[in-house]
Amino acid sequence: MRTLALITFIFLWALSPKSYAQDTFRVMVDAGHGGKDNGTTGAHSVEKDIVLDIAKKLSEMSSYQIEIMLTRHDDEFIKLNRRADMANESHVDLFISLHCNHIAHSYVHGTEVYVHGSGHTQEDRSIAERENGGLYAENELNENMSFILNEFAESAYLEQSLTYGNQVISSFNSSSTLHQRGLRQANFRVLRTLDMPGVLIELAYLSNAKNEEYISSEKGKAEVVEVLWNSIVMYRNSLQQSSELFLVNTNK
Ligand SMILES: [Zn+2]
Repeated sequence: MRTLALITFIFLWALSPKSYAQDTFRVMVDAGHGGKDNGTTGAHSVEKDIVLDIAKKLSEMSSYQIEIMLTRHDDEFIKLNRRADMANESHVDLFISLHCNHIAHSYVHGTEVYVHGSGHTQEDRSIAERENGGLYAENELNENMSFILNEFAESAYLEQSLTYGNQVISSFNSSSTLHQRGLRQANFRVLRTLDMPGVLIELAYLSNAKNEEYISSEKGKAEVVEVLWNSIVMYRNSLQQSSELFLVNTNK
């Protein structure tokens, strides 16, 4: 009977969330675009440069508890699939892709957080289409096949991606002046084949003068870096708490 209880405990322990108390929590931060792909542009700024600057500042905050890794450190072009592969090969705990938005209506402003899924609105589908970069389309056939294979696995990460996405929004709400446009779903290629939770964040609209000024300024960038860092800490802590709760429950 004791052996059975021990085996059950080991089995449940193996399935329980990873214990983050001792381990470094590792995050792959992806600065969107790069090299020949500028992303979108504002009146005075370029998306690829803003997001790289923010990603690098975030990586400088790495500590013993949380390590921030980057998909790119310079102005280089990296295929979208490769960015996801880098996260998968490094077995990181979380993936964050950073972008800036653009729309014809210059009055639209704020931040959107996306998890992978079908776009529910025309606006979400258009944003995904632009970020997926038709100009730089990769091997679509192979990608579609891997997309089908990954469809089963990714639902396991959807809940965690939504949890983290909500933490990003509450972190922005408490420390930033950026308006929050909500947590959404769209078919972003960079999120499709991830083996871990992941989000894509459209930090601000470069088509809106005030948003562009904010996200281009040192003050705005520092604020956004702090918001992102806090969201990662909150997410890591929530996983640690659920891991501890699980162990408490199994001891009953
Ligand atoms: Zn982008």
